[in-house]
Amino acid sequence: MEAINPTVRRMCREAAEDPEGFWARAASELPWFRGWDTVFDWRPPTFEWFLGARTNLSHNCLDRHVARGWGGHAALVYETERGEQRTLTYAQLLEEVKRAAAALRGLGVRRGDRVAVYMPTTPEAITVMLACSRIGAIHLVVFAGFGSGALGERIRLAGAKVVIAADITYRKGKDVPLKGIVDAAVAESGGLVEKVVVFRRGAEPVPMTEGRDLLWEDFLALAEGQDAGHEDMGSSDPAFILATSGTTAKPKLAVHTHGAYQVLVHSMGRWMFGLRPTDVWWSTSDIGWVVGHSYIVYAPLLAGCTTIAYEGALDHPGPDTFYRIVAANHVTGVFTSPTAVRLLLKYGTEPSRAHDLGSLERIFCAGEVLNPPAWEWLQKEVLRDEVPVIDHMWQTETSGPIVGNPYGIGLLPIRPGSPGIPLPGIDAAVMTPEGQVCGPGEKGIFIIRRPFPGLTASLWGEPERYGRDYWDKIPGHHVYFSGDAAEIDEDGYVWFSGRADEIIKIAGHRIGTIEVETAFLRHKAVAEAGVIGRPDPLRMEVISAFVVLKPGHTPSPELRDELLETCRRELGPVAVIGELNFVGMLPKTRSGKIMRRVLKAVTLDKDPGDVSTIEDEGSVDEARHAWEEMRSQLAASQGEGPR
Ligand code: AMP
Repeated sequence: MEAINPTVRRMCREAAEDPEGFWARAASELPWFRGWDTVFDWRPPTFEWFLGARTNLSHNCLDRHVARGWGGHAALVYETERGEQRTLTYAQLLEEVKRAAAALRGLGVRRGDRVAVYMPTTPEAITVMLACSRIGAIHLVVFAGFGSGALGERIRLAGAKVVIAADITYRKGKDVPLKGIVDAAVAESGGLVEKVVVFRRGAEPVPMTEGRDLLWEDFLALAEGQDAGHEDMGSSDPAFILATSGTTAKPKLAVHTHGAYQVLVHSMGRWMFGLRPTDVWWSTSDIGWVVGHSYIVYAPLLAGCTTIAYEGALDHPGPDTFYRIVAANHVTGVFTSPTAVRLLLKYGTEPSRAHDLGSLERIFCAGEVLNPPAWEWLQKEVLRDEVPVIDHMWQTETSGPIVGNPYGIGLLPIRPGSPGIPLPGIDAAVMTPEGQVCGPGEKGIFIIRRPFPGLTASLWGEPERYGRDYWDKIPGHHVYFSGDAAEIDEDGYVWFSGRADEIIKIAGHRIGTIEVETAFLRHKAVAEAGVIGRPDPLRMEVISAFVVLKPGHTPSPELRDELLETCRRELGPVAVIGELNFVGMLPKTRSGKIMRRVLKAVTLDKDPGDVSTIEDEGSVDEARHAWEEMRSQLAASQGEGPR
């Protein structure tokens, strides 16, 4: 571990030698109503942290800052693609949250009840999240872009009795109606839902169901005479439930707790992001994802900094929106995703030049591999190497970063394409499917040997799936199976190469989907690429590539040959491309992740399975159309060899 900074190395060593002591010290950085009797109790497949301790996640985000005189500091800045802006101080946000907490009690919501939130990233949605955790109710935020099937299924699985929804969401200048989706979802979810609260702001009237639906103002009026105080929660009491993104399988409902989750996001907020109270922090995510929960709401508020909640598209009303918001708010730290970086890249550097980005100290990225060409563009062309662009890896199940380059304790040399090292306290390794630990540079599956606080310890409603899907995957080894393929180099950096079940096997070689996609992105005409392995009688598998071009480039046989040549140059002859399909868009989850299993189903003429989390169903038809066209061309030119 030559390249690792001494503080980081010390923390990793301390965590390895005494994980419980290490996490107990991290937990001591937060106030607790009562300390723990036992740090950790592991009863496979599940476990608990900080047994006996009492806390409240929402209280530690708000009340304690106000109590220490920080009430006048801006907690939340709301910005929209329509140019609306609103700021709430810690004291104001606390008042809003208390009112909503009392109103929830007035509505009959009690500790342990589940409340579904189907709202875009707005102060009202964040208020509801914090109000739920304040009274010990469990929030289940569903991205306000999913259809009624996905919403209804989550309401049903979680057993939510209240839904809090917005009537519309903003999308690229349009009002997208949501109430009809809520009504259909509630009807599909089997009669569980007693109340629907509607936060109304659109111009159109909203159909209301008598006795069940009430407007936001009427909901708030229920606060009258109700207790606004916070509940005293056990460390392992659930604070929220959140579905995984469904890139590889049917979404799972991960459970996150008041205590352990809080310790993880607070610790990683400091170690990874270097969050401090004077930061103006912007996570461009949406509250519908775990990085919305952790990076828009809980980590920045636990740290006492100003967090920006942005509603809308990053390239609307113009391609400079992202840069404008950074400059206008003097943002010091940004979290964004590779898909957002690739979106900005499409417009080139020009839009960034109109704004002063001098306040920025660091940009973090995660969600997929940040392909080196996209990293280079942001780091060198947009930011002119003045501030670092830092990758890290998380899962919905892990609450926050688990592999990263810990800016907050000592930035390591950045190796583009790798998110960094397993962070202090995360005991990770790479293993073969048979349970052999891989040596440096050997590809295998990224696993975690020991639970850390914040790792989901259960799945809501599917207890048996928890052990099966995470802890029993490698026979004879009780390790957490991340599902990601990776290798670790001799300096400890982790290199993710795609999902483990999507590794492409060509004539005895194993190639990660990410490696091939990154190779395509080296060509200046390519905006995005998604690749999969498709069965081949000769070589076991060949690569089927789906490529989206940047504006101003059109598909042609010449361009196809150029792209194949680029890929060959980058990866050598082992990366046999069966065919290259040009498409207008890739199937992606609503959180922007490429759904390769859909591409795979298309090339195998199979049903794509659960696509409830897909961004645009048209992408399935596009891929199918491109593939069918390609197949007929291949048939016509049989014997000509791969294209
Ligand atoms: P989700 O299914 O939404 O919880 O997404 C978690 C998955 O996103 C991980 O298991 C990885 O496959 C992927 N991921 C997140 N961040 C990164 C990253 N920095 N590099 C590679 N993959 C990532």
